[in-house]
Amino acid sequence: MSTAISADHELLISTVRDFARGELLELDRRCDHAETSCCGRLEPLYEMGLLGLRVDEAHGGIDCPTLPYAHIIREVAYASPAFAVTIGVHNMVCEAIARYGRPELLDEMLPRLVVPDNLSAFAISEPDAGSDPSSATTRAERISGGWRLFGNKLWVTNGLTGRWFIVLARASDAPAGRRDHSMFLLDARQDAVHREAIKGKMGIRGSETAEMRLEGAFVPEGHLLGQIGEGLKIALSALDGGRIGIASQAIGISAACLDEMIAYAQTRRQFNRPIADFQAIQWMVADSKTELDASQLLVDRAAELKDRGERFTREASIAKLFASEAANRIAYRAVQVFGGSGFVNDCRVEQLYRDARITTIYEGTSEIQRLVIARELLRPGA
Ligand SMILES: Cc1cc2nc3c(=O)[nH]c(=O)nc-3n(C[C@H](O)[C@H](O)[C@H](O)COP(=O)(O)OP(=O)(O)OC[C@H]3O[C@@H](n4cnc5c(N)ncnc54)[C@H](O)[C@@H]3O)c2cc1C
Repeated sequence: MSTAISADHELLISTVRDFARGELLELDRRCDHAETSCCGRLEPLYEMGLLGLRVDEAHGGIDCPTLPYAHIIREVAYASPAFAVTIGVHNMVCEAIARYGRPELLDEMLPRLVVPDNLSAFAISEPDAGSDPSSATTRAERISGGWRLFGNKLWVTNGLTGRWFIVLARASDAPAGRRDHSMFLLDARQDAVHREAIKGKMGIRGSETAEMRLEGAFVPEGHLLGQIGEGLKIALSALDGGRIGIASQAIGISAACLDEMIAYAQTRRQFNRPIADFQAIQWMVADSKTELDASQLLVDRAAELKDRGERFTREASIAKLFASEAANRIAYRAVQVFGGSGFVNDCRVEQLYRDARITTIYEGTSEIQRLVIARELLRPGA
């Protein structure tokens, strides 16, 4: 554990750990098997304050710094990568609203976002805009008192139960020749918002994913985040922080795989001895622990930079790239250690292997992380 984490936050992390490894683990397994959303089961997480981790105390949140926040996401992900991304996205959206909303919007929204029935979502991706959000075509038409949004969003986590969406759209009132991508806070509970579940996911099957059609959905004047033309900047800065969350989700998966691997290797016997006696198995365990610890150190470095208010874009991408790729390698090894038993879905490592896969894809694929890291290194004056 990092020495930079306060005793109060250590206590919160261990409370989350106990809760997660108890009832959450069971719930996650049920959600995975039946492919049912975990979003209706968030009550105990609200009670622990996990939906207000990145909201300040004046607005009812916990005001948790990034470093302990990352460790909390890891503990949730150890038991449930699906719950971890659900609360990770919500906290990322809260943070973006707190950073870019006008003071009146913060007073109106932040106290709501920490209580049930106000889950939030991040609607950037579209059918033709994934790695390149600048090709988003959703439109925001200026009308008296606000905007009307038209377009299609894809892959929205928390997209069915969620109520408050930050939506990237091109504003019709941008000055000629200036950037028009802007970020709007949308109340998704209106007739002009049509949402449909995306089913059949390989992993994180308890997490809710939706597509959304906007047919003139209304956004009032005060619900613009930042200025017209700042949408991409807001999306990318939210993703910088979000990547620390996804890296932590990957670490939770890796840690769970390693524990499963060790326990199985010590009990499964072949050739009259535990398989843990074989060097081939020992090396898989050793390599996994090494990559797990390296992932945690990279996450802690990025989180501490962020908490100090320093630039952390490159370090967040490095942490996300390494931790997510490592989680896939570690999950692969875990299945290998289990042999045939790891190949069927009553074995937890089978699920962890599937859950790990998304971590190299969302909030920027591994290829995009490499692009960000190289761009940051080659930036003039870097
Ligand atoms: C379960 C799930 C949940 C998600 N949740 C959200 C969410 O809440 N909100 C949201 O807005 N989005 C969400 N996404 C979308 C996710 O962020 C995108 O899937 C991701 O950014 C990749 O975009 P894409 O799928 O369109 O792939 P593409 O961008 O089409 O990429 C396809 C391939 O091309 C590669 N590629 C693309 N551009 C380059 C390049 N310049 N250099 C090298 N390689 C490149 C990619 O790395 C990838 O391998 C989610 C996706 C999933 C699957």
